[in-house]
Amino acid sequence: MPPSHPFDTSYLRDGDDEDKLREECGIFGVIGVVDAANFVALGLHALQHRGQEAGGIVSHDAQQGFQSARRFGYVRDNFTSQKVMETLPGPLAIGHVRYSTTGSKGQTAIRDVQPFFGEFAMGGAAIAHNGNITNANSLRRELIERGSIFQSSSDSECIIHLMARSLQRTIPERMEDALRRVEGAFSVVAMTRTKLIGVRDPLGVRPLVLGRVGDGWTLSSETCALDIIGAEFIREIAPGEMVVITDKGVESHFPFRPQKPRFCIFEHVYFSRPDSILGGRSVYETREAIGRELAKEAPVEADLVCPVPDSGTPAAIGYSLQSGIPYAMGIIRNQYMGRTFIEPTEQIRNMGVRLKLNVNRALIQGKRVILVDDSVVRGTTSRKIKEMILDAGAAEVHFRIASPPTAWPCFYGVDTPQREKLLAATMSEEEMREHLQVDSLRFISLDGLYRAVGEAKGRNSKQPQYCDACFSGEYPVEPADQIESGFEMKAAE
Ligand code: SF4
Repeated sequence: MPPSHPFDTSYLRDGDDEDKLREECGIFGVIGVVDAANFVALGLHALQHRGQEAGGIVSHDAQQGFQSARRFGYVRDNFTSQKVMETLPGPLAIGHVRYSTTGSKGQTAIRDVQPFFGEFAMGGAAIAHNGNITNANSLRRELIERGSIFQSSSDSECIIHLMARSLQRTIPERMEDALRRVEGAFSVVAMTRTKLIGVRDPLGVRPLVLGRVGDGWTLSSETCALDIIGAEFIREIAPGEMVVITDKGVESHFPFRPQKPRFCIFEHVYFSRPDSILGGRSVYETREAIGRELAKEAPVEADLVCPVPDSGTPAAIGYSLQSGIPYAMGIIRNQYMGRTFIEPTEQIRNMGVRLKLNVNRALIQGKRVILVDDSVVRGTTSRKIKEMILDAGAAEVHFRIASPPTAWPCFYGVDTPQREKLLAATMSEEEMREHLQVDSLRFISLDGLYRAVGEAKGRNSKQPQYCDACFSGEYPVEPADQIESGFEMKAAE
């Protein structure tokens, strides 16, 4: 979607200045409460960091049947008006926020916005998907050859068509059938007229949690969205688990061949909100532990530890606590970038990073500064931040990065540049340091990251405990579509 305004920094994501991997979706569902769609809107608002391009809600009401609203833009701009919310009545609703998924970047149509809806002989079903189907091209080809007519360019629509072709009697059974054919990463929230359904792929790559809200139940990508509606966090949906929730309670199935879980380790580093709980531990605490680990692995003499806000903050606090070097807010983020009314000019567009971040000059001047960031993707933002810090009079700049070098693209539901554009794909650590022109640059090691997320012995190289493909190049599910279009996997060692 084109930028609505030069100060709308969403336009930076495809430009040189946007330098982060982006989670592509957040999902949320509620059953058993009055006006469930209102709860879903709040939940999606709390999950907005997982997708800001568009959002949608489907609800069901005994009198009015299924209703849906799908819109571009923020949840707060679309799902706060009474007029819209009145069109979504009923005790059961699901919703989705998204960035564009693989294959549809920059050309998203409203028909690509989830949840998707299908009408089956036994009733309707709506489905919202977080993740990426790695065999979507071949599934889509096969389905089209057999007569399916696709409405969108989204991979996730394959699930609805596979369900339509299943011979099973019930919708949950058809969904099991469909998802057995799907490869890759999926967390799914779906609904029928009477059921809320949640499923995680057998590796559990993307998160999904269960909560209790009053007499009802809720499913969410993250626990932070349970908090906003006052729901109690019950548990994570297990990898490979399907839960079917009705007014009688929660039924659990394990329809897939069991596999060792491979949760996305980057959720701990960056994607999830710091106030969420992952693996029984607060994301904030884990990020602080990453900072401590980084300080042990990569110490340096300096005067200040400064985060690159906001995502580098907990790791910078951890680095400061471990090293004893004072923590300071050397860079200030403008929290109100989203909306202003200044006329667009080329000059404003060229300001890039400076629109979002400003250096706290008085603090930085003459100091040896350690900058802690969560990741380096293309390196464009890191370079500009370094220039801002030096312009402000810093004596030295040392980068410390709370993730290992990102050298491989993600094919499991995260927006990553092509491999050639990843700085770490073409440069060694020392070459990256030279490229960024900083006094030192160090990344946390993969083992260090594993220790920080609670694996005391580090990474098990024979059977890694997490998905870490964007660092290691070892993909837990072969990205079949990508290989077909020329992607070269890492050679076996
Ligand atoms: S490749 Fe990286 S970002 Fe993608 S699921 Fe694996 S760890 Fe997460």
